[in-house]
Amino acid sequence: MAHHHVTVRVPGKVNLQLSVGPKRSDGFHEIATVFQAVSLFDDVKVTLSDEMDRDQLFAIEIKADHPHGIPTDRSNLAYLAADLMYKKFNLDDALDISINKNIPVAGGMAGGSANAAGGIVAMDSLLSLGLSRAEMEEIGSEIGSDVPFSIAGGTAIGTGRGEQLTPALARGSYSWVFALSSNGLSTPAIYGECDRLREGMEISSPQVSESLMHALRSADAKALGKALQNDLQPAACSIRPALRLILDVGMDYGALGGIVSGSGPTVAFLAEDEDHALDLVVALTSSGVVGNVVRASGPVVGATVIDR
Ligand code: ATP
Repeated sequence: MAHHHVTVRVPGKVNLQLSVGPKRSDGFHEIATVFQAVSLFDDVKVTLSDEMDRDQLFAIEIKADHPHGIPTDRSNLAYLAADLMYKKFNLDDALDISINKNIPVAGGMAGGSANAAGGIVAMDSLLSLGLSRAEMEEIGSEIGSDVPFSIAGGTAIGTGRGEQLTPALARGSYSWVFALSSNGLSTPAIYGECDRLREGMEISSPQVSESLMHALRSADAKALGKALQNDLQPAACSIRPALRLILDVGMDYGALGGIVSGSGPTVAFLAEDEDHALDLVVALTSSGVVGNVVRASGPVVGATVIDR
């Protein structure tokens, strides 16, 4: 029987810029990225349970239109986050974790990381651990590079493997259109393809683009559209050539900018405003090159308790 529960809402993200540097000795690439949290949300509900007879501490339930590809076992990132919290804080209550999923799976929008972030923030609240946001981000970085940003939200610069965050000076709200693919892409496979495409090239250290930061500071959507840049895009398009066509169609229909989100395959288009975003949704949908198109705005706040 459940005693208490906490629900945390967590946003997906788009990388406005993703600059990929050389591969490090630990196998990760040094990156410089500008994240923006967008209004596609997962809700992570953590419930204290007194069913102590089960052979695992946590049970995971997924609620999604397309649950395909989301693990319900110990490899779920929310499970890994809960497990880490238990080890760090010597906890032993049984928990039910239920995830209401809207962020595309394996879509380059950090859906799994968002679920880990939601788990950490929910457990902090449910078990009255009293952790600061910085402490939760630190714990999150042990699970994955994008987890700290899922906790922080807003617009931020990520360096290292993306886990070292600095808030970005950003003004304005931006209207996004996301072209979703039903088949995800594996992030390690995209980095591998990126390495293959750049073989023999001199790779300089990753840099955040000054023109992009200037566009954000001046809330200039047109300039931001032009400054969007993703070093993983050639690799994502090489593995999934249909992404090039989607990018061309969105730009032909007047998007201010188009970019593969993170490691793809989601393609993000920046629109002038909400009406323009609606026009883009209609155009992309009727073009027949994309199955599922959604609108969102950014920046939005990071992981937030919405129910307790
Ligand atoms: P990123 O942008 O951080 O690289 P992504 O958005 O491309 O990530 P995710 O949705 O996080 O990708 O999923 C990547 C893989 O992680 C999935 O294929 C799935 O096997 C695994 N996974 C583990 N936990 C989750 C979760 N809670 N939700 C979705 N996928 C998960």
